[in-house]
Amino acid sequence: IPIKCSVIIVGAGISGIMAAKVLAENGVDDVLILEAADRIGGRIRKEDFGGVTVELGAGWIAGVGGKQPNPVWELARHSDLRTCLSDYSNARYNIYDHSGKIFPSGVAAQSYQKAVESAIQKLRKQESSPDVDASLLAETAAPKTPIELAIDFILHDFEMAEVEPISTYVDFGDREFLVADERGYEHLLYKMAETFLFTTEDGEISDSRLKLNKVVRELQHSRNGVSVKTEDGSVFDAHYVILSVSIGVLQSHLISFLPPLPRWKTEAISNCDIMVYTKVFLKFPHKFWPCGPEKEFFVYAHERRGYYTFWQHMENAYPGSNILVVTLTNGESKRIEAQSDQETLAEAMEVLRNMFGHDIPDAMDILVPRWWNNRFQRGSYSNYPIYTNHQLVGDIKAPVGRIFFTGEHTSEKFSGYVHGGYLSGIDTTKALLEEMRRGKEWKNESQTFR
Ligand code: FAD
Repeated sequence: IPIKCSVIIVGAGISGIMAAKVLAENGVDDVLILEAADRIGGRIRKEDFGGVTVELGAGWIAGVGGKQPNPVWELARHSDLRTCLSDYSNARYNIYDHSGKIFPSGVAAQSYQKAVESAIQKLRKQESSPDVDASLLAETAAPKTPIELAIDFILHDFEMAEVEPISTYVDFGDREFLVADERGYEHLLYKMAETFLFTTEDGEISDSRLKLNKVVRELQHSRNGVSVKTEDGSVFDAHYVILSVSIGVLQSHLISFLPPLPRWKTEAISNCDIMVYTKVFLKFPHKFWPCGPEKEFFVYAHERRGYYTFWQHMENAYPGSNILVVTLTNGESKRIEAQSDQETLAEAMEVLRNMFGHDIPDAMDILVPRWWNNRFQRGSYSNYPIYTNHQLVGDIKAPVGRIFFTGEHTSEKFSGYVHGGYLSGIDTTKALLEEMRRGKEWKNESQTFR
């Protein structure tokens, strides 16, 4: 007979680890964390590439220097995480055309201003008449030339804060720091985990409450508890479940619910958009791009929106690494995920040769993360419409019986960010603790929960 634990947490990304930490701090330690992958971290993931550590998922701590402290920045400081200031507002002054000429900064600044104003106008119209078809509005001021398309891409996929207030920047400040630490962004998760899970001296987690390679496939839930089945046929029973898998996984039906989730829940889940965001890493024998101040980012203006548009060099993070990163999103991300890395390398090289001439060396290595095709992610992060009705996030977050939902997609203010995941782990767990205190299982102030 399986032993029933208090809470099973599905997923060991930042929200799941945070949830477990808050439970432990409240005396609830008969907890199981079931993680599908062979590692913790989820969308915080490092890999060795070209002699350094690169971040395939989250790379920046966004929202620093404002009136409220960003908890992830605080954690990074206490953990001595190495970071460097990063400012992609300079990207607009380094826009290359297909013949390698940089658009004069005046032209770029003017186009940028125009694009910001038109985006704000469009937003206001949408706000005042939400029933107007957004695609019609978009049609009237659609960017057409390569520079307009490039600016539209930076504005909407990187610098939305120029157009609409984003809580991350309003609350926590407008500075962003790139994580540049050989231990990876994930070092923060290990620092959190070591406060409540047994960890060896060399930093490995060795605690039977964390189970890796456990792909949850079914949640059977009733008034009495939840029974969790994994792909390898194991069954785990708990009074409650905290489900921290991404919105993409919830949409994908990897996990079935018995009885099925109510209609309001499934509808809310399917109404949340997913952003696919891919950083492609290229290693070169030597640098051929400018590296001075304000040159960390550069942009390629092409007639196809988002075609190898946004580039970054890694010299600030790792001097001498000779690595470039190009970011693709959505349709372009899905397209390159479906082709071979050699094809992607050839496309990227052609773009680079257009910008920097034919004498540049070939890349020696390429790394293409596949967040869309990863069945434990199915995308990079949730992307709520700008004027989201509060109901939508509320419904995505709301528990169903004994199943509680957490993760960046359940954070109304900070969805899409690491701190969104972190804070959602706290919020969901507080709500669960309330529920447990109300329930009979909670043994008053001795704080043992059986
Ligand atoms: P996850 O990290 O996805 O954790 C969920 C866990 O559940 C995963 O470990 C997964 O393996 C596991 N899981 C899934 N299915 C199952 C199953 N069936 N059974 C068991 N386990 C399962 N944020 C920033 O703040 N700054 C950035 O610069 C930034 N850049 C990003 C770039 C990319 C490419 C990506 C992908 C994300 C980026 N983000 C960034 C967003 C940030 O990474 C996420 O918001 C955050 O890490 C999400 O944490 P989470 O705990 O909600 O989800």
